Amino acid sequence: MKHVFGPVPSRRLGQSLGVDTIPLKTCNWNCVYCQLGRTKPLSNLRKEYFPPGEIAAEVQEALDLHKPGEIDWVTFVGSGEPLLHAGMGQLIRQVKEMTNLPIAVITNGSLLYLPEVRQELTAADAVLPTLDAGNAKQYRLINRPYPEITYERLVEGLVAFREEYRGKLWVEVMLVRGMNDSTQELQDIARVLKSVRPDAVHLNLPTRPPAETWVQPPTGESLIQALAILGNTTEVVHPAEGSFDLSGYQSPIDAIIGIITRHPMRQEELERTLDRWPAEKVSQALADLISSGQAQVVERYGMRFWSAAPSIYPDQERSLRAFPGHPLQNINPRQG
Ligand code: SF4
Repeated sequence: MKHVFGPVPSRRLGQSLGVDTIPLKTCNWNCVYCQLGRTKPLSNLRKEYFPPGEIAAEVQEALDLHKPGEIDWVTFVGSGEPLLHAGMGQLIRQVKEMTNLPIAVITNGSLLYLPEVRQELTAADAVLPTLDAGNAKQYRLINRPYPEITYERLVEGLVAFREEYRGKLWVEVMLVRGMNDSTQELQDIARVLKSVRPDAVHLNLPTRPPAETWVQPPTGESLIQALAILGNTTEVVHPAEGSFDLSGYQSPIDAIIGIITRHPMRQEELERTLDRWPAEKVSQALADLISSGQAQVVERYGMRFWSAAPSIYPDQERSLRAFPGHPLQNINPRQG
């Protein structure tokens, strides 16, 4: 399937059937921590990147494949900003007609200042926007937005959405060491959150390969401080344990591409996830994906992650040096 993946385990959403509405790395932000690499170019164009009927048909197919109890949520999330798809309202309504499962939308929240976007989300059961900064300067440094998407608009959109929306509003804050984890920065974020009044605040830490090499998770001390400052609806969201459902994939190659396009993975994790195929088949599939230029290995935090080849990570040459002899050596490094 091209648009639907999983269900995948999620701490907040149980077994979540992912629906990806846009081409890889179509986004109006370029977050320093983005696990899908750099956004190049930034795009703020709302349009129907794929026909809604094509996406809805895949959702129906995936729902038909699974027994009751195997999926907890249908989640619009993916390889960029899902609300850039202009047919999101229609898609959410269509999925509502197909199933009683709750629907979540994971978004950066940057388009919530548009009344029509807020309207499109009313049928969703939970919306999870992002707020990483308590002021315009930090926002520009962390999220590096499309110029038109100002900080004032981001906050204005979140506040307006909270006033209109009856579903669950769970705000995500990604903590990056030295950027938004100081007492002052956290107090600034807490002040904005007070005006947004989310149902919960989810603290995330960069665990997958960040776009920028220097991005680090906060220290344990900063994390404790963040929990204290951001209030009692705040919790740390660690990556969920559990298995990826690969029943929709016929071959290890399709499964690997389906996974790493949205979730770059460490080699060991990927091998574990693919254990329904013999280990030699998986190794062969990885080698084939490298030689055909469909996948790449990215080194971050001293670990190797597999990612889809179109993702753009700077310092890829550093990754090559870290793994001498790897087949990736034969491929021209992508430039960030
Ligand atoms: S983390 Fe999300 S919002 Fe930020 S650049 Fe990546 S896809 Fe866009």
